[in-house]
Amino acid sequence: MSRNRGILVVEDEPAISDLIAFHLKEEKWEPVVVEEGKRALELLEKTLPAAVVLDLMLPDIDGIEVLRRIRENPHTKFLPVLILTARGEETDRIRGLEVGADDYLTKPFSPRELMLRLANLVKGRGAEAKPPVVSFGLLEVDEGRFRVTVDGEPVEISATEMRLLTELLQHRGKVLSRKQLLQKAWGFMPNVTERTIDTHVKRLRRKLGPAASYIETVRGVGYRMVEEPPLVKPSQREKTKKCEPKATDQKTSKRKTPRAT
Ligand code: CA
Repeated sequence: MSRNRGILVVEDEPAISDLIAFHLKEEKWEPVVVEEGKRALELLEKTLPAAVVLDLMLPDIDGIEVLRRIRENPHTKFLPVLILTARGEETDRIRGLEVGADDYLTKPFSPRELMLRLANLVKGRGAEAKPPVVSFGLLEVDEGRFRVTVDGEPVEISATEMRLLTELLQHRGKVLSRKQLLQKAWGFMPNVTERTIDTHVKRLRRKLGPAASYIETVRGVGYRMVEEPPLVKPSQREKTKKCEPKATDQKTSKRKTPRAT
Protein backbone atom coordinates (compact mmCIF):
# COMPACT_ATOMS: atom_id res chain seq x y z
CA MET A 1 0.00 0.00 0.00
CA SER A 2 1.49 3.30 -1.01
CA ARG A 3 1.14 6.03 1.55
CA ASN A 4 -0.52 9.26 0.62
CA ARG A 5 2.16 11.96 0.49
CA GLY A 6 0.01 14.67 -1.08
CA ILE A 7 -0.39 17.98 0.71
CA LEU A 8 -2.82 20.56 -0.62
CA VAL A 9 -1.54 24.08 -0.03
CA VAL A 10 -4.18 26.79 -0.37
CA GLU A 11 -2.32 30.08 -0.39
CA ASP A 12 -2.52 33.06 -2.72
CA GLU A 13 0.84 34.62 -1.87
CA PRO A 14 3.39 32.97 -4.17
CA ALA A 15 6.32 33.87 -1.90
CA ILE A 16 4.73 31.87 0.90
CA SER A 17 3.39 28.97 -1.17
CA ASP A 18 6.77 28.57 -2.90
CA LEU A 19 8.49 28.42 0.44
CA ILE A 20 6.02 25.85 1.77
CA ALA A 21 6.23 23.75 -1.40
CA PHE A 22 10.01 23.80 -1.29
CA HIS A 23 10.14 22.52 2.27
CA LEU A 24 7.42 19.96 1.64
CA LYS A 25 9.42 18.50 -1.23
CA GLU A 26 12.49 18.37 0.96
CA GLU A 27 10.48 16.24 3.36
CA LYS A 28 9.32 13.98 0.51
CA TRP A 29 5.79 15.32 0.52
CA GLU A 30 4.01 16.00 -2.76
CA PRO A 31 2.63 19.53 -2.60
CA VAL A 32 -0.20 20.78 -4.78
CA VAL A 33 -0.58 24.55 -4.59
CA VAL A 34 -3.80 26.38 -5.39
CA GLU A 35 -4.50 30.08 -4.92
CA GLU A 36 -8.23 30.04 -4.49
CA GLY A 37 -10.61 28.43 -2.05
CA LYS A 38 -13.00 27.43 -4.81
CA ARG A 39 -10.26 25.61 -6.66
CA ALA A 40 -9.25 23.82 -3.46
CA LEU A 41 -12.79 22.56 -2.92
CA GLU A 42 -13.01 21.40 -6.53
CA LEU A 43 -9.78 19.45 -6.16
CA LEU A 44 -10.89 17.86 -2.92
CA GLU A 45 -13.97 16.53 -4.69
CA LYS A 46 -11.67 14.48 -6.87
CA THR A 47 -8.73 13.52 -4.72
CA LEU A 48 -7.78 13.44 -1.08
CA PRO A 49 -4.37 14.64 0.10
CA ALA A 50 -2.85 13.52 3.40
CA ALA A 51 -3.46 17.02 4.78
CA VAL A 52 -4.38 20.59 3.83
CA VAL A 53 -2.49 23.80 4.61
CA LEU A 54 -5.09 26.52 4.38
CA ASP A 55 -4.49 30.25 4.41
CA LEU A 56 -7.49 32.09 5.84
CA MET A 57 -7.11 35.21 3.69
CA LEU A 58 -7.95 34.09 0.18
CA PRO A 59 -8.99 36.16 -2.81
CA ASP A 60 -12.30 34.41 -3.41
CA ILE A 61 -13.90 32.43 -0.58
CA ASP A 62 -12.88 33.13 3.00
CA GLY A 63 -10.62 30.37 4.37
CA ILE A 64 -13.04 29.78 7.27
CA GLU A 65 -15.77 29.10 4.74
CA VAL A 66 -13.50 26.68 2.87
CA LEU A 67 -12.83 24.88 6.14
CA ARG A 68 -16.51 24.77 6.97
CA ARG A 69 -17.26 23.16 3.63
CA ILE A 70 -14.44 20.65 4.10
CA ARG A 71 -15.96 19.65 7.44
CA GLU A 72 -19.50 19.51 6.06
CA ASN A 73 -18.59 17.13 3.26
CA PRO A 74 -18.59 13.50 4.43
CA HIS A 75 -15.83 12.81 1.92
CA THR A 76 -13.43 15.35 3.43
CA LYS A 77 -14.62 15.89 6.96
CA PHE A 78 -11.81 13.87 8.56
CA LEU A 79 -9.07 15.49 6.52
CA PRO A 80 -6.33 17.05 8.67
CA VAL A 81 -6.33 20.82 8.12
CA LEU A 82 -3.74 23.29 9.36
CA ILE A 83 -4.72 26.93 9.00
CA LEU A 84 -2.41 29.88 8.45
CA THR A 85 -3.50 33.08 10.14
CA ALA A 86 -2.21 36.60 10.10
CA ARG A 87 -0.36 37.90 13.12
CA GLY A 88 -2.63 39.30 15.76
CA GLU A 89 -5.77 37.76 14.29
CA GLU A 90 -6.66 35.75 17.35
CA THR A 91 -10.35 35.79 16.43
CA ASP A 92 -9.59 34.06 13.14
CA ARG A 93 -7.58 31.43 14.89
CA ILE A 94 -10.30 30.70 17.43
CA ARG A 95 -12.95 30.67 14.70
CA GLY A 96 -10.79 28.30 12.68
CA LEU A 97 -10.40 25.92 15.60
CA GLU A 98 -14.11 26.09 16.28
CA VAL A 99 -14.97 25.28 12.68
CA GLY A 100 -12.66 22.28 12.84
CA ALA A 101 -9.06 23.17 12.08
CA ASP A 102 -6.72 20.61 13.59
CA ASP A 103 -3.94 23.09 14.05
CA TYR A 104 -2.78 26.59 13.11
CA LEU A 105 0.32 28.63 12.52
CA THR A 106 0.60 32.38 12.64
CA LYS A 107 2.46 34.19 9.88
CA PRO A 108 5.36 34.59 9.68
CA PHE A 109 6.09 31.02 10.68
CA SER A 110 9.07 28.73 10.59
CA PRO A 111 8.81 26.28 7.66
CA ARG A 112 10.53 23.70 9.84
CA GLU A 113 7.80 24.05 12.41
CA LEU A 114 5.15 23.71 9.74
CA MET A 115 6.78 20.46 8.57
CA LEU A 116 6.80 19.07 12.10
CA ARG A 117 3.21 19.97 12.70
CA LEU A 118 2.06 18.51 9.40
CA ALA A 119 3.91 15.26 10.04
CA ASN A 120 2.26 15.18 13.41
CA LEU A 121 -1.20 15.72 11.98
CA VAL A 122 -0.77 13.07 9.32
CA LYS A 123 0.67 10.62 11.84
CA GLY A 124 -2.65 10.74 13.61
CA ARG A 125 -4.17 9.04 10.57
CA GLY A 126 -1.42 6.51 10.01
CA ALA A 127 -3.02 3.08 9.81
CA GLU A 128 0.08 0.96 9.70
CA ALA A 129 0.00 -0.46 13.18
CA LYS A 130 -3.68 -0.89 13.87
CA PRO A 131 -4.57 -0.10 17.45
CA PRO A 132 -7.40 -2.12 18.97
CA VAL A 133 -10.97 -0.87 18.95
CA VAL A 134 -11.80 0.50 22.39
CA SER A 135 -15.32 0.21 23.78
CA PHE A 136 -16.08 2.37 26.75
CA GLY A 137 -19.68 2.83 27.78
CA LEU A 138 -21.47 4.47 24.87
CA LEU A 139 -18.16 5.21 23.20
CA GLU A 140 -16.47 3.10 20.62
CA VAL A 141 -13.14 4.31 19.29
CA ASP A 142 -11.50 2.67 16.32
CA GLU A 143 -8.31 4.64 15.95
CA GLY A 144 -7.03 2.53 13.06
CA ARG A 145 -10.10 3.21 10.95
CA PHE A 146 -10.40 6.70 12.36
CA ARG A 147 -13.91 6.11 13.53
CA VAL A 148 -15.69 7.13 16.70
CA THR A 149 -19.25 6.21 17.53
CA VAL A 150 -21.42 7.24 20.45
CA ASP A 151 -24.26 4.85 21.11
CA GLY A 152 -23.74 3.42 17.64
CA GLU A 153 -23.94 6.81 15.92
CA PRO A 154 -20.80 7.96 14.06
CA VAL A 155 -19.25 11.16 15.34
CA GLU A 156 -17.16 13.40 13.11
CA ILE A 157 -13.83 13.97 14.74
CA SER A 158 -10.59 15.72 13.83
CA ALA A 159 -7.09 14.26 14.07
CA THR A 160 -6.31 16.32 17.13
CA GLU A 161 -9.56 15.39 18.83
CA MET A 162 -8.86 11.74 18.11
CA ARG A 163 -5.45 11.98 19.74
CA LEU A 164 -6.94 13.81 22.73
CA LEU A 165 -9.63 11.18 23.08
CA THR A 166 -7.32 8.18 22.76
CA GLU A 167 -4.83 9.74 25.14
CA LEU A 168 -7.52 10.29 27.75
CA LEU A 169 -8.92 6.79 27.18
CA GLN A 170 -5.53 5.17 27.60
CA HIS A 171 -5.16 6.85 30.98
CA ARG A 172 -8.72 6.54 32.17
CA GLY A 173 -9.12 7.43 35.82
CA LYS A 174 -5.95 9.50 35.78
CA VAL A 175 -5.70 13.26 35.51
CA LEU A 176 -3.73 14.52 32.54
CA SER A 177 -2.44 18.05 32.79
CA ARG A 178 -2.88 20.45 29.90
CA LYS A 179 0.86 20.26 29.42
CA GLN A 180 0.76 16.47 29.11
CA LEU A 181 -2.13 16.66 26.69
CA LEU A 182 -0.27 19.25 24.65
CA GLN A 183 2.74 16.98 24.33
CA LYS A 184 0.73 13.89 23.56
CA ALA A 185 -1.91 15.27 21.25
CA TRP A 186 0.04 18.06 19.59
CA GLY A 187 3.66 17.01 19.91
CA PHE A 188 6.15 19.77 19.26
CA MET A 189 4.10 22.93 19.35
CA PRO A 190 5.54 25.64 21.50
CA ASN A 191 2.88 28.14 20.50
CA VAL A 192 -0.17 26.14 21.46
CA THR A 193 -1.73 27.66 24.53
CA GLU A 194 -3.85 26.14 27.25
CA ARG A 195 -6.79 27.91 25.76
CA THR A 196 -6.35 25.81 22.63
CA ILE A 197 -6.59 22.62 24.69
CA ASP A 198 -9.73 23.93 26.33
CA THR A 199 -11.22 24.81 22.95
CA HIS A 200 -10.53 21.32 21.62
CA VAL A 201 -11.86 19.58 24.72
CA LYS A 202 -14.97 21.73 24.60
CA ARG A 203 -15.54 20.80 20.98
CA LEU A 204 -14.80 17.16 21.62
CA ARG A 205 -17.32 17.06 24.46
CA ARG A 206 -19.95 18.70 22.27
CA LYS A 207 -19.41 16.02 19.65
CA LEU A 208 -19.53 13.20 22.19
CA GLY A 209 -23.05 14.19 23.26
CA PRO A 210 -24.22 11.73 25.92
CA ALA A 211 -20.63 10.56 26.44
CA ALA A 212 -19.39 14.13 27.03
CA SER A 213 -19.50 13.65 30.80
CA TYR A 214 -16.88 10.90 30.51
CA ILE A 215 -14.30 13.67 30.23
CA GLU A 216 -14.05 15.49 33.52
CA THR A 217 -12.43 18.85 34.11
CA VAL A 218 -10.04 18.84 37.02
CA ARG A 219 -9.94 22.46 38.03
CA GLY A 220 -6.53 24.04 37.82
CA VAL A 221 -4.92 20.85 36.52
CA GLY A 222 -6.36 19.41 33.38
CA TYR A 223 -8.72 16.67 32.27
CA ARG A 224 -9.54 13.12 33.17
CA MET A 225 -11.45 10.30 31.53
CA VAL A 226 -13.69 8.66 34.13
CA GLU A 227 -12.47 5.27 35.25
CA GLU A 228 -15.76 3.53 34.57
CA PRO A 229 -18.45 4.80 32.21
CA PRO A 230 -21.61 5.77 34.07
CA LEU A 231 -24.77 3.76 33.59
CA VAL A 232 -26.83 5.10 30.74
CA LYS A 233 -30.27 6.45 31.39
CA PRO A 234 -32.65 6.19 28.44
CA SER A 235 -33.57 9.88 28.74
CA GLN A 236 -29.93 10.78 28.25
CA ARG A 237 -29.86 9.03 24.91
CA GLU A 238 -32.89 10.87 23.66
CA LYS A 239 -31.36 14.23 24.50
CA THR A 240 -28.49 13.88 22.06
CA LYS A 241 -30.64 12.95 19.14
CA LYS A 242 -32.66 16.14 19.54
CA CYS A 243 -30.62 18.28 17.18
CA GLU A 244 -30.50 15.68 14.46
CA PRO A 245 -33.02 15.86 11.67
CA LYS A 246 -35.33 12.90 11.89
CA ALA A 247 -34.27 10.89 8.90
CA THR A 248 -36.47 7.86 8.65
CA ASP A 249 -38.92 5.94 10.79
CA GLN A 250 -36.62 3.02 10.53
CA LYS A 251 -33.85 4.97 12.19
CA THR A 252 -36.13 6.10 14.99
CA SER A 253 -37.22 2.58 15.76
CA LYS A 254 -33.64 1.39 15.67
CA ARG A 255 -32.73 3.97 18.28
CA LYS A 256 -35.18 2.60 20.78
CA THR A 257 -33.45 -0.76 20.80
CA PRO A 258 -30.78 -0.56 23.45
CA ARG A 259 -27.47 -2.11 22.65
CA ALA A 260 -26.79 -5.36 24.42
CA THR A 261 -23.39 -4.86 25.92
CA1 CA B 1 -3.52 35.16 1.68
